[in-house]
Amino acid sequence: MKKEPVCRKCRRAGMKLFLKGEKCFSPKCPMVRRPYPPGFHGQKPVSLSEYEKQLREAQKIKWTYGIRDRQFKNYLEEAKRQKELTVADALKQLLERRLDNVVFLAGFALSRRHARQMVSHGHFYLNGRKITIPSYLVKPNDVIALKEKSKKSQLAEEIKRRKESVQPPEWLEVDFENLTIKVKRLPLPEEVKVPFDFDLAIERYSR
Ligand code: SF4
Repeated sequence: MKKEPVCRKCRRAGMKLFLKGEKCFSPKCPMVRRPYPPGFHGQKPVSLSEYEKQLREAQKIKWTYGIRDRQFKNYLEEAKRQKELTVADALKQLLERRLDNVVFLAGFALSRRHARQMVSHGHFYLNGRKITIPSYLVKPNDVIALKEKSKKSQLAEEIKRRKESVQPPEWLEVDFENLTIKVKRLPLPEEVKVPFDFDLAIERYSR
């Protein structure tokens, strides 16, 4: 199946999803010039059915975290097994704990997509051991570090330059000198900044 261009997803969602890093904040962002869905009927207002709204909300979450439908369903099943939180809050917490998301939130990558590439290309150690799994779910006291070789690269310089412009969440302790990220605790649902309606998205899967 042909892969859909990333920016098209924002246009279909009708909002910026910030999937491409710097371009998202520049006038080159297609949502600046064409903030309507792609296609011949794109500019016509449409009213969505309840099911379409649920589908759209689930898509926005999946596109933002860069996960497939099967992965989303697996997270949802896991969220249902957790008793201390509502399903929506447990789902938020699980997605937020993904290693690629943590690398992005810490400011070590320009987007979650960029973070995923960095992790799979082997730029990080987790608790002293190399890790290449973007979907790894971080735990309290985990330490993620840019590997020694990468610390001497341009990548490290770019991360250090970004220090002033990023505000990592409270649950992460980011050391921009040594290029490490410590997970102090699990994220609270209210700390999750992804602005979508998780309850609505979950309804899509409760049929
Ligand atoms: Fe979305 Fe970023 Fe592309 Fe703009 S540049 S359409 S925000 S992914």
